[in-house]
Amino acid sequence: MWTDGYNALFRLEYGETWYCKGCRKLIFSDPINNFVNTKTHTEPEFGFPAVGIRREKEETVRRATVRKMADECRMTRHACPAGKCGSSATVMRRYRIEAAPEYLRVALGLVRYHSGGPSKIMHSVKVERILDLTDLQRDPSTPLHYRLICVTSHQGPSFETGHRITAVQGPGQKYYAINDDIVRKETEHYMTMNPHDGSEATILIYKSTRPSK
Ligand SMILES: [Zn+2]
Repeated sequence: MWTDGYNALFRLEYGETWYCKGCRKLIFSDPINNFVNTKTHTEPEFGFPAVGIRREKEETVRRATVRKMADECRMTRHACPAGKCGSSATVMRRYRIEAAPEYLRVALGLVRYHSGGPSKIMHSVKVERILDLTDLQRDPSTPLHYRLICVTSHQGPSFETGHRITAVQGPGQKYYAINDDIVRKETEHYMTMNPHDGSEATILIYKSTRPSK
């Protein structure tokens, strides 16, 4: 099936488990909705869409990705599985990667919405050449490393206007900056420069360092 090939290349799948906030014991079922505790999110997600970034000096792609996968409070309560935290304990959700694609997109959310309308976050995130997501897997026994191969950046003070340019790794160890019909040879260092040519990185494409099947 072509879909199997597509999924292996592009689809990120992650599972959700629940645990008690008090004692951190796993919750195995929800008697009201009859959910089992492990739920796999199978909707096709071409990597991570709209990863929120913070205006901090040490903000990196990895930090933003880790926050995207952070545990969340669920808006329901559940009997504590250990019986320690009361009959109505707070349920937490934990997300972990179950199937990692060969090509991972990380889209940085550079738009902030507030009462005055949307505005662009001009803060430049530090872009890692190698992104290590090993610890975000359900089974972290196999390393999960990605190498940056493409960066699309946005130029301009507002997302409603402006211009986009791209940095790519070509075949072999060759790097290019692409701006409309102008292609310029670049160094490896250019891939992780942010901003580069006055543009902020917004869409990053990483390729798995595992040998392809
Ligand atoms: Zn508990």
